[in-house]
Amino acid sequence: MNFHFFGNNKAIDLVNTESAAASGTTDLLASQEALSDWFEEAGIACGIQCSDKDLEETRELRSAMRRIFDRVQESKSAAPGDLDLLNRRSNEMVRLLSAANNNFKISVRLNSSTDILAMLASQCCELLASNRLGSIRKCASTKCTYYFFDTSKNQQRQWCSMETCGNRHKMRKHYDRSRGDSS
Ligand SMILES: [Zn+2]
Repeated sequence: MNFHFFGNNKAIDLVNTESAAASGTTDLLASQEALSDWFEEAGIACGIQCSDKDLEETRELRSAMRRIFDRVQESKSAAPGDLDLLNRRSNEMVRLLSAANNNFKISVRLNSSTDILAMLASQCCELLASNRLGSIRKCASTKCTYYFFDTSKNQQRQWCSMETCGNRHKMRKHYDRSRGDSS
């Protein structure tokens, strides 16, 4: 499966498993196996068995996160129902304290899809409250609906990926210029 991990944030990467372009919606999480593969390829957890309910809950969280990001882009308030869902999910996150010879460590339990969604929802909450809303941006291509968190120093990142949208833009510019030269 061709998942994208250019979001610089796992919650954003989850949102990017769906492309909602005008040409049609593509859902990369089309099956329970695909969800399990995504958890693995995202570097979150291996061998998670996912049920239909897990898939449904993932899509529900993903849609809520996308709607919140969309509202942020439009400088509109997020819908209360979407915030509720995000809060509900993130409050399911389980932290575990472990100790090896009094070396204490806190980790997040990631044993099930529910655990993982809780962690992703929590990451999304932290991102939204991080005071860096301006760095959560949509790809500059009008045909693309992917999001990314701009971690570049000059905050000038425009494209989801240079290999796709960035490259298409470069080619178009080149084409326009070469046409301009010949006339
Ligand atoms: Zn793009």
